[in-house]
Amino acid sequence: MNTPRTACDSCLMPFAKDPGPRESDRYCSLCFQNGALCYQGTDLKEFQRRCYRAMIGKGRHPLVATLYTFIIRFAPRWKT
Ligand SMILES: [Zn+2]
Repeated sequence: MNTPRTACDSCLMPFAKDPGPRESDRYCSLCFQNGALCYQGTDLKEFQRRCYRAMIGKGRHPLVATLYTFIIRFAPRWKT
């Protein structure tokens, strides 16, 4: 199984929007740094809170951040 990915397995950010540089071909440059996932936990809600805060910190509109945070649950990493 080696399907080319176009979005992060963890947060669903399209790689085209990744500010990079990307270390992993599965995860974006924000989720995966220095050879490891930044958030190692398995708590989707906590991960979503972190992503939301990071997006707000980057100046995203709160409604946009809320939408992107919502769709994280559909990322392969969080499928059960
Ligand atoms: Zn990501």
